[in-house]
Amino acid sequence: MDVEGSSVKGYHPLDKYLRTDRLPHIWCPGCGLGINLGSIMRAIDRRVREGSLKRENIVFVTGIGCSARTSFYVNFDAAHTLHGRAVAFATGAKLAKPGLEMIIIGGDGDIAGIGGNHLIHAAKRNMDLIVVMITNFVYAMTGGQMAPTTPRGLYTTTTPYGNPEPPLNAVKLISSLNPNYVARASVTHPPLIEQFMYRALGMKGFRFIEVLSTCPEIFGRHIGLRDPVTLYNTLRSKVVVKQNPNVEESELDWEKGFVLGEYIMRDNPSYLEILGRR
Ligand code: SF4
Repeated sequence: MDVEGSSVKGYHPLDKYLRTDRLPHIWCPGCGLGINLGSIMRAIDRRVREGSLKRENIVFVTGIGCSARTSFYVNFDAAHTLHGRAVAFATGAKLAKPGLEMIIIGGDGDIAGIGGNHLIHAAKRNMDLIVVMITNFVYAMTGGQMAPTTPRGLYTTTTPYGNPEPPLNAVKLISSLNPNYVARASVTHPPLIEQFMYRALGMKGFRFIEVLSTCPEIFGRHIGLRDPVTLYNTLRSKVVVKQNPNVEESELDWEKGFVLGEYIMRDNPSYLEILGRR
């Protein structure tokens, strides 16, 4: 069977959602980004097959960074925008064409650092967007600088004596605003990413999913966990899954670990509803 939009034969049921002519991707061996992409594609596939989402209405928007390369590989309308500006770009597209389902994927540096102000204001107005923030605790593509999410005490190239600052907890920050959905998943638990994305695709308003991910090449190498399996197993040992955890449990602490789950689920009027355009 020919793969739609591609010159290669189909090898996998999800190939139709990928620009297989763009593969192989640039991600390093052992990177968690492929796990995240596969999980998101499975959630989309479920929604498309059950008829609750039209494939032609999906648009991916990314900024800059390793995670942002996702927009090159998906076989949907996609925009690869400026560093930190994916949320602003997607907001404009959604206001112009309310029928689109805007999916933003970016790293922690791109989304919560350089694009942090856009993120805050989109959550504040409950803008009809899905933001998937991949947290690998470092600016990876640019060489391992401290990211807003870097846990306290860890080495980065800009904190050679250990990060003295507390990390930015995006789950807690976004939950304090006006989003309809906030969840945290991890590449160590792919079905959770799929489940949370499936949920988000069925909702309106601002939906935020943080996905903890593995970057063996930069983050892992700098903290003595260069081997992808070792880093993956280390992250896996640090996460715990909870049903509807309290936001106060969402601390980003490399020593104490991380709580995964759905922190916020509500049905507040979305920005487009408030404007009467939904
Ligand atoms: S540098 Fe890190 S985040 Fe970027 S592709 Fe390589 S492993 Fe993945």
